Amino acid sequence: MDGNDSGLTSLSATVRQFLSQPKKALINGKWQAAQAGQTFEVLNPATGEVIARVADCQKADVDQAVQAARKAFDGGPWRRMSPADRGKILWKIGDLIQANLEDLAQIESLDNGKPIAVARAADVVLAADLFRYMAGWATKIEGESISLSVPYTPDAEYHAYTRKEPIGVVAQIIPWNFPLLMAAWKLGPVLATGCTVVLKVAEETPLSGLRLAEICQEAGLPDGVLNLLTGFGESCGAPLAAHPLVDKVAFTGSTEVGKLIVRAAANDLKKVTLELGGKSPNIILNDADLDIAIPGAASAIFFNHGQTCCAGSRLFVQDKVYDKVVEGISKIAQEIKIGPGLDPTTQMGPLVSQVQLDRVSSFLRSGEEQGARATCGGKRNGDKGYFVQPTVLVDTHEQMRVYQEEIFGPVLVAMPFKDVDDELIRRANDSVYGLAAGVFSSNLSSAHRLAARLRAGTVWVNCYNIFDAALPFGGYKQSGWGREMGHEVLKNYLETKSVCMSV
Ligand code: ADP
Repeated sequence: MDGNDSGLTSLSATVRQFLSQPKKALINGKWQAAQAGQTFEVLNPATGEVIARVADCQKADVDQAVQAARKAFDGGPWRRMSPADRGKILWKIGDLIQANLEDLAQIESLDNGKPIAVARAADVVLAADLFRYMAGWATKIEGESISLSVPYTPDAEYHAYTRKEPIGVVAQIIPWNFPLLMAAWKLGPVLATGCTVVLKVAEETPLSGLRLAEICQEAGLPDGVLNLLTGFGESCGAPLAAHPLVDKVAFTGSTEVGKLIVRAAANDLKKVTLELGGKSPNIILNDADLDIAIPGAASAIFFNHGQTCCAGSRLFVQDKVYDKVVEGISKIAQEIKIGPGLDPTTQMGPLVSQVQLDRVSSFLRSGEEQGARATCGGKRNGDKGYFVQPTVLVDTHEQMRVYQEEIFGPVLVAMPFKDVDDELIRRANDSVYGLAAGVFSSNLSSAHRLAARLRAGTVWVNCYNIFDAALPFGGYKQSGWGREMGHEVLKNYLETKSVCMSV
């Protein structure tokens, strides 16, 4: 690869063509410019240069998209379509994602900055899997029949049953860290249950969502079922979350914005599910196999440049192995090859934006000011693009901002501990978040005991960041409401209706 082009010359002809076309919003099956005619720039995080312009959708566009979704839900062909036919469309979306794997991976890597190898092996494949997994659920949404014993009508007989019905029009708002995969996590269950949707993709990374919407059309999704908007949080996301014709809001993003979503939805008591931030504890016990634990803990924080809501960002290491673990992770961090995502040899790309670079840099400064020491990294990498060095901070304590707050960058806060029962559990659970946790141990009993006592939606043991469409994911405490994936997610989009008939 030419070192100066940040990988742009490696883009396929079809991706180039996709980038060169005007980027519009999808409303009622038609691609259209924002009503006010405005657009905004999408930047390459490896260089800060413009790669595309997309529609700057605002309140009027939101209204039009919600009306389209409402119409498609209330009267459109989607509701009348058999679950099997809905499932076939979902399966086809999965197949088309797989068929377009290389192009989608290139778009994702260019737009988000993640290494192309990761986009290929994880983001795109998991997105295809999710649609196929959800295709199977379309035909398995079932109510129950219930025997009644009503005390005040002792002689009557009833036939009573429940129906699971789609909740209606869903507003979905997603972040920039896994743009395609987050769209898949959200759209798969919404389509399987027969809802209609207005999806707002993140302003930093709108491109793969736009390509996915084209794929959904190609797979035969009827007009108005999926409406896709590009726009900013306050001018597009906020009116969408508050729109009176929306029945339910599903949001993934920061805990701060999650609280705004709840307030926006409170007016008319829309249903809300949230997948929010984390400051996940990753625990290495003295008896851990360090050949697994050290690379495991490094990837727990450095995967996706730490821009993962479940990143293992608070590392607790038992005293006897603390020095060795810190040394091992620091060595891995120093050897990580940083570069543009599109370079096939890159292991860590840029952060997504200048805003994130500033945010992570400010955390690094704050750590230093409060007395933390970096055993590796600690700085911006180079002066072009939004690169940060993978960093391990030691000499940390629990009052530090770097310990308490979600950094959303490749910055690990390491701390030793002695005792598991009295000390570690309390410290690990001492967070407003509860998204994920990791445990590395060779003792099965210790691992199971810890898994039960950690207040987190996912506990990984001797592994980290393992995702599967069948495995529920979501948070305790301020990490969210509800679960993504697995059959659990279907609950987010279904109402239960009880039907009681005198017979
Ligand atoms: P991050 O801090 O990781 O950028 P955010 O929570 O700010 O995450 O953004 C996640 C998504 O929420 C994005 O699509 C963004 O546009 C949207 N968003 C931001 N602010 C609001 C808001 N006030 N109302 C609705 N959506 C918003």
